[in-house]
Amino acid sequence: MPVIIRCRRCSFELYKGNEPVFPEDIVKRYGFKCPRCLSQLSPNPTKLTVRPATRRRKFLLRLK
Ligand SMILES: [Zn+2]
Repeated sequence: MPVIIRCRRCSFELYKGNEPVFPEDIVKRYGFKCPRCLSQLSPNPTKLTVRPATRRRKFLLRLK
């Protein structure tokens, strides 16, 4: 199932792929900052919004 992780602020695509990933690994890869808007990214799951996209069965993880 495709997974997309986006910056919550600017919707920059931090990760897109078919393999499930840990948000923590992704934000770590970016140094806990969004490369586009430089807002701080938190790997804390409580701050993530996971929502299924209705059309293509994608899951969007929004990082605050
Ligand atoms: Zn951003």
